[in-house]
Amino acid sequence: RQAAFRSDIGALLEQVGTGKESLSFMKRRMRRLAAQWSSAARRLDDRLRSQWREQKRILVHVGFLTEESGDVFSPKVLKGGPLGEMVQWADILTALHVLGHNLKISVSLKELQGFLGVPPGRGSCPLTGPLPFDLIYTDYHGLQQMRQHMGLSLRKHKCHIRVIDTFGTEPAYNHEDYATLHGYRTNWGYWNLNCRQYMTMFPHTPDNSFMGFVAEELNDTERLSIQRNKVDSMAVVYGKEASMWKGKERFLAILHRYMDIHGTVYYETQRPPEVPAFVKNHGLLPQQELQQLLRKAKLFIGFGFPYEGPAPLEAIANGCIFLQPKFKPSHSSLNHEFFRGKPTSRQVSSQHPYAEQYIGRPHVITVDFNNSQEFESAIRDIMKTKVEPYLPYEYTCEGMLERVHAYIQNQVGFWPGSPPSPFVLLPNSSALAWASNISTPPSWPPLSALRLLASLEGQSCIDACQSAGLICEPAFYRFINIKEAFSGLEVQCDGVEAEINHIFPAFSVESSECGLQKDPLLFSCAGANNKYHRLCPCRDYRKGQVALCRDCL
Ligand code: UDP
Repeated sequence: RQAAFRSDIGALLEQVGTGKESLSFMKRRMRRLAAQWSSAARRLDDRLRSQWREQKRILVHVGFLTEESGDVFSPKVLKGGPLGEMVQWADILTALHVLGHNLKISVSLKELQGFLGVPPGRGSCPLTGPLPFDLIYTDYHGLQQMRQHMGLSLRKHKCHIRVIDTFGTEPAYNHEDYATLHGYRTNWGYWNLNCRQYMTMFPHTPDNSFMGFVAEELNDTERLSIQRNKVDSMAVVYGKEASMWKGKERFLAILHRYMDIHGTVYYETQRPPEVPAFVKNHGLLPQQELQQLLRKAKLFIGFGFPYEGPAPLEAIANGCIFLQPKFKPSHSSLNHEFFRGKPTSRQVSSQHPYAEQYIGRPHVITVDFNNSQEFESAIRDIMKTKVEPYLPYEYTCEGMLERVHAYIQNQVGFWPGSPPSPFVLLPNSSALAWASNISTPPSWPPLSALRLLASLEGQSCIDACQSAGLICEPAFYRFINIKEAFSGLEVQCDGVEAEINHIFPAFSVESSECGLQKDPLLFSCAGANNKYHRLCPCRDYRKGQVALCRDCL
């Protein structure tokens, strides 16, 4: 069946259900953004007119909201607890609904069992027969629950699963045996999925798929009124929980010399002691009222925590400049409590690396807060700088719909096969491209986007592709994991071995050693090792939509 875009979210709101503060938060958000989604759907529909979009049967099981996983988030919705996940789930649900798919939503084990055809009361009865869904979106909690309640049949149906995973999972952590043997085992990883089945909040490692969320878009009237009403001396602090303000008195005092400071810190009866008296604290605001505050403010300032949330994008979309601390050294699972045990070695270079790297000046200023001079001069600059509201396309409703549509229609057949042959290597200006005019199994992204590069010693493929203005594309590893790739790059090899090592395919100049990857689950954009140059499959990407290459749609 062809999927038809939906412009009304009434049916979705009914499906989401009631009884939890988190669900009410999500429904308020859906209602508030409904008009924006519907006009985005119209635009995308116009652009995709000629394309057949198959309607999929989709189950969304939000594991972290189930009582069985403890549901620690719902009680904190009105108390300054994390809301980023709920923002993202609300947007995923809306995107799937608007794209016209056949949706079932579950936020409890009972509902999950009902949808999977397991009679209630027969907890661990494995699913028999075919899976009644084409796709299942869940999270790590939900995955665990599905393993318990589907038993062995989970393995059979694994390729239908997509895991919403805020911070991402790298291949070395995802591979159960490898993680266990080489010290990458965490509480979360080791599911032996194809890493593109993990979908992240920001484009972290391209080993995962970037799912994202949306921020509010402005019309011309709103833009104009923002410009008129901006108060150059008004700052809003990023941090809705008092603990995020702890130890920041010094920065707040400096900032207060220049600007009026506003906060949205949750409190019960009294001002939290962490929030100085000169701060105007509004208490935790509904999203809509926070937007109004951001429309007036000139500066949105982060003090290092929370990491990588939606709020800075909302601030920038409302014409604020986001000032945030640079982390030196970077924070990671090796040196910071928050990231410890997360299945990634990613180096987090500032509070919000996406804002730093993908948006940057004049909207985002990242400085060393411990250097008071630098900090102070950044504040002075911000008060003088005029900026327009800005929202990267990938965080608009149309951008999210476009990306999710592309994934749903094209991310199929996640199980790696052997490389197609024969292969021809073509010289292509600075890079090399594989000839795509020969019979190959269909690839998405299309093989014409492939550019083969060698990384520097110690450099990951994420960085190697990035320095060439490209992005690492894990789907292409299977095409470059062949010995001809070394000769194509004029690398001298004393023989070529295949090994189980997430650095491979790679080579060492010193020892003339060249290695191919033996286990396709370990193809990794993120991997790096000081002794090796890596072979990197890169591709182009659309400006403002890094998940998609030029010919991806
Ligand atoms: N938010 C809100 N009221 C506030 C402060 C924040 O509704 O007073 C919302 C904000 O609009 C954003 C969400 O909380 O969409 C998540 O914010 P944050 O970036 O702090 O991420 P988190 O750490 O909560 O995941």
